Amino acid sequence: MRYTLFLSDLHLDDRTPELTALFYQFLKQHAPQADAIYILGDLFEAWLGDDMQCTNDKQVAAALAQASQHTTLYFLPGNRDLILGKKFAQQAGLTRLATPSLIKVYDRPILIMHGDELCLDDIRHQRYRRVVTHPVTQWLFLHLPRWLRRNLGQRLRQRSQQHIPNDCAQIADVTPGAAENALNNTPATLLIHGHTHRPQCHSLQLANGQHGERIVLGAWHDQAHYLRINRDGSYALHPAKE
Ligand code: MN
Repeated sequence: MRYTLFLSDLHLDDRTPELTALFYQFLKQHAPQADAIYILGDLFEAWLGDDMQCTNDKQVAAALAQASQHTTLYFLPGNRDLILGKKFAQQAGLTRLATPSLIKVYDRPILIMHGDELCLDDIRHQRYRRVVTHPVTQWLFLHLPRWLRRNLGQRLRQRSQQHIPNDCAQIADVTPGAAENALNNTPATLLIHGHTHRPQCHSLQLANGQHGERIVLGAWHDQAHYLRINRDGSYALHPAKE
């Protein structure tokens, strides 16, 4: 049976080649059978501009381009790869989407986003987010010399590692009510996002009395995490929770 896949938070980095290999394996296995694969942000651990080799991005682009011969690949940006641009997307055969985006999968409207926009209690991150998502900030950053971007990138990484110890267990969770609010203005009753590294299906009560759902994708460490929606509308998070 054919299906559509959603994944996020791979955090690919040249320091973790096993993880990159796992992703290539995943693409090889699923691209021929998937109608579409949606990557909901933080594909890369860090992104400093399409003109900079900050990770093994050339190889990753080639693997994605190969997969895009078989399936449609979508990407929306996470907080780590916010400025992943047109040039890389073209090389990798990715169609870029905004976060959030309203999509239709097998006739069902679905709201997708990276998820950090729902963590409203993380005041520090929201303040940072407002600055870095501004087009002027992004334009300025991309016009800085590469050495300075590398420098700033390293500093941001160190700061976020101090703030969030290794396992990301302390990433702020979604603020209660934020998911319902996001869905209330749309025809969708299903929201799919990543970022919090807390894979789970949550039930929601929407303002119009409808039953809603929020599905959180898991972060990749030593195994692939993804949501699979089948053509008949059934779905499952992988790996299954014990
Ligand atoms: Mn994130």
